[in-house]
Amino acid sequence: SPLVVAMDGPSGTGKSSVSRLLAARLGARYLDTGAMYRVATLRVLRAGIDPTDTAAIAAAVKELPLNIGTDPGRELIELDGEDVAAEIRGGAVTKAVSAVSAVPEVRDLLVGLQREIALAAGRIVVEGRDIGTVVLPAADAKIYLTASAAARAHRRNQQNIAEGRGDDYAAVLADVQRRDTLDSTRKVSPLRPAEDAVLVDTSELTRDQVIDELYSVVAR
Ligand code: C5P
Repeated sequence: SPLVVAMDGPSGTGKSSVSRLLAARLGARYLDTGAMYRVATLRVLRAGIDPTDTAAIAAAVKELPLNIGTDPGRELIELDGEDVAAEIRGGAVTKAVSAVSAVPEVRDLLVGLQREIALAAGRIVVEGRDIGTVVLPAADAKIYLTASAAARAHRRNQQNIAEGRGDDYAAVLADVQRRDTLDSTRKVSPLRPAEDAVLVDTSELTRDQVIDELYSVVAR
């Protein structure tokens, strides 16, 4: 049966991994909308465009040969047929993504694609920043994951260590706070919970505890 779950919240709450696992448990598809903004950003950087040049960004994404999979068990993210899953998580894209995702033409394009993908899937967990507020306001369940900035920075730093990107908690915390401010104060789709979203604070919970909590929210 159709089931649309909107998962929003800032970075470092464990949102991606729990969204993916929740989708698998629900027998649903999974869409990572942050990955789509990251692909658009990679396109902009590869075209040599300054991430503050909004007119050039709008022109560059008019055609975005993006292919994103929705299997929660297998990540698939391609730009022009090339696997870019690793590159879009790198430092250059992470630094520029807030600026690129603030351009209205970029949001219009990707929001339209996200709605199409969700409609085609029927049963899906869609993860991002504005899913419950803008992309899918009629979602069956809306969840907003939160966690303290310290807890989010700790998680991200552990992830960096595990993936060989070094250990620098202070720098990670500064980046978490910088992106929070950019994402919550921008004029276009500022980050905030939908009025009817269920807030789940993950600071003190294990990943399994979070998934159990989300599953019970969606099932009720
Ligand atoms: O979730 P992730 O960290 O990959 O998202 C990268 C960036 O993409 C966010 O910091 C935010 O600027 C942007 N984003 C957005 N709207 C979404 C998903 C992500 O603006 N729905």
